[in-house]
Amino acid sequence: MAVKLEFLTEDQQAIHFAKRYWAMDAEGLYLERVAELLPFRDITKPGVVAKYIREICQAFDENQSCPVCDGAMPINGRADVKKTPRRAYQTCDICLERRGKELAGRRAAERAELERHLGPHIYDMQNKTVSYKGFTDDTIIVLQAISILIGPRLLLGTFCLSDCEQLTPMGARDFIDRLYTEEVLVDDPTDAPNGTYLVEKGKLLIKKSTARYLLPPDTGRGREPEAIRELFDREFSDANALTNLWLDFAVTDVMRYMDNQCSLHNHDLDQEAIQKVEGLVRHGLRTFSVSQMWFIIWKVTRDAAALASRIYYSHEKATATIPTKIHKQLEAAYQGATLRNDWGRPEPHIAGAIGQVFNSQFGMNELTKGAEVLRLFSAISDKRKGEGDLYKLAASFMKETLEGQDSVAALDAFAVLIRSGLSTEDAILEIVNRGA
Ligand SMILES: [Zn+2]
Repeated sequence: MAVKLEFLTEDQQAIHFAKRYWAMDAEGLYLERVAELLPFRDITKPGVVAKYIREICQAFDENQSCPVCDGAMPINGRADVKKTPRRAYQTCDICLERRGKELAGRRAAERAELERHLGPHIYDMQNKTVSYKGFTDDTIIVLQAISILIGPRLLLGTFCLSDCEQLTPMGARDFIDRLYTEEVLVDDPTDAPNGTYLVEKGKLLIKKSTARYLLPPDTGRGREPEAIRELFDREFSDANALTNLWLDFAVTDVMRYMDNQCSLHNHDLDQEAIQKVEGLVRHGLRTFSVSQMWFIIWKVTRDAAALASRIYYSHEKATATIPTKIHKQLEAAYQGATLRNDWGRPEPHIAGAIGQVFNSQFGMNELTKGAEVLRLFSAISDKRKGEGDLYKLAASFMKETLEGQDSVAALDAFAVLIRSGLSTEDAILEIVNRGA
């Protein structure tokens, strides 16, 4: 008999009944039909026999082996028995339970390892401070933009990537990543949902999509109003940082439009082509406005669509011409061809909070040409440098006056210039020039 029985009762009559139920000949044919076994005690219907048999004995079919331990598989009734030997698809109950325990053990070990890594990480993050004064101009602009989106939470709470989705027309990931890498922002595990952190090869990894970010307090001044003023009252002066941020932002404004136009015409650009276009756009934006770049994109994607509709021209081949077409348009524009600068912002395409800050701080928007943007930043930088020089001049005037033979005469001369209506700056310049 290919069915092995394990009895769960000591009731001899019941055991005998189960043996009769499972008895079969060498061919695997049952010796008695179920109906012939009845009545047995209060059981009179064949339909309930299998259930009763299961309660008093566990049957194993030796023709079906567990794929893990090779043991006979448990079966529920006569219909489950196989006439020829085979491997079962599923594991036996014992293996299933063992695997469940192993899995639970592994999960518990993983949890314990995560806790071990998270403990010191939480301590580090909670005790971190940064110098707001040391933030670069571009960092300050992005922080001001985040503050437009999340308000006081920038200083008093945590936020996630999706809270900042409207930082630029193409989301916030690159910009938040940069602040995180520069340790302007830190992550807060205590506020993040389960599954945000995991340990891989002994290293703590963070899932950016659910991470909670936090601006640490200022080193020294914590969250005092003076520290916060540092974030909002910055006198910008770093032309390089401002230019790069403007270009990064303006590229997203153009690429968002590119996305729209490509899906409108069914152009599917690969990653390499997109990077090429981004490079061209970034370079073009040093001279032209976002709106002018939109015009180029509008024209070349439309031309490529017209090309694709021609016989003997595939859609892929037409799409592949887009980067070169953009390049050609830019070359013509550099050589004097006119580019329209009235291409309007499409309805669903927002400028983003960084765009808002650039607009409020410097009055620039999608119509401002790149060359003007660069000139403006460079002028701001020169002005600050000039002011810096004035402070140096004033300091040297004071020093020379104090060290000089006749400090009263020097102060008198300065007072005369002021009385004559000169500003402090002009009076310093005049008196220093006289001395030279
Ligand atoms: Zn097994």
